[in-house]
Amino acid sequence: MGSDLERYARQMILPFIGEDGQRRLLAGRVAVIGCGALGTVIANSLVRAGVGFTRIVDRDFVELNNLQRQILFDEADVEQRLPKAIAAARKLAVANSSVEIEPIVADANYANIEGFIRDVDVVLDGTDNFETRYLINDACVKLGKPWVYGGVLATYGLTMTIVPGVTPCLRCVFPEAPPPGTTPTCDTAGVLGMAVSVVASLQSAEALKLLVKSGEVNRGMLWVDVWESTFDRLSAVRPEQGCPACSEGRFDFLVGSAGAVATSLCGRNAIQITVPTTRKVSFPLLAERLQNAGKVSYNEFMLRLQVDGFEITVFPDARAIIKGTTDESVAKTMYAKYIGV
Ligand SMILES: [Zn+2]
Repeated sequence: MGSDLERYARQMILPFIGEDGQRRLLAGRVAVIGCGALGTVIANSLVRAGVGFTRIVDRDFVELNNLQRQILFDEADVEQRLPKAIAAARKLAVANSSVEIEPIVADANYANIEGFIRDVDVVLDGTDNFETRYLINDACVKLGKPWVYGGVLATYGLTMTIVPGVTPCLRCVFPEAPPPGTTPTCDTAGVLGMAVSVVASLQSAEALKLLVKSGEVNRGMLWVDVWESTFDRLSAVRPEQGCPACSEGRFDFLVGSAGAVATSLCGRNAIQITVPTTRKVSFPLLAERLQNAGKVSYNEFMLRLQVDGFEITVFPDARAIIKGTTDESVAKTMYAKYIGV
């Protein structure tokens, strides 16, 4: 065993991994989309297991109520208001300096999602909303990339592995997203950290199986409730009339809209505004412009404006999170007023 493999010794004893499997993991590339509860557990598992390249994409920054379940963050990250992708990458770089970690502070959307997954072998779902999951599904089916869906609420969670061309996809199982406001969210129903850990660990194991190419992934959906102590397996089938994504090759979610898009953020009393632009925001210039509007501060990752009881956080890609409202039109108005489209 080479000294570079020493740290993986206990995992390499497993006959289905061995030295060959470990070398495949080291050559493997994954993208973790969303680095909150599920994403931190997944990134932690995969980086420590020796996956050679891990891209971590997240749009948010660390807050105090994340620490209950988002295992890579601590109080210093909250104090420094670090973006989650950056904080996660810094923690993991000290846990395993021999693999590559690429943090990306961005909202995964129709314009950038293919770029995030094109050069990886497996995509992991660490998101908390159906909109982004359908986006991941469309992009992965289109590019033929396996991905592992995961979702958690309260004490239960669900995971499913999607291998394009082999298994049914997310749209086969859930043809349409539930209308906004009709399903419970972690905002309204809460979430137990242990439910997150179980689902994220199942997802991570699926990624390992796909990377070592040992063959069998989990077929169908796996449902777990950590409070009831139950596991259930549900079958997933392609609908008889076919699936828009994996039967017809119609990728509805990769077709974007041109205007500003407002998204409610789970559990945050906040709305995110994204605008389709490729130009980068200059924080020094924006800070100067806003100096009389309210209290302005910025670092290399974000600019923050406090005004009229709202807190507006602007990212270099012109995206903003407006805290202090759950009303999309109020958030859009605040964005237009202070940041401009
Ligand atoms: Zn499908």
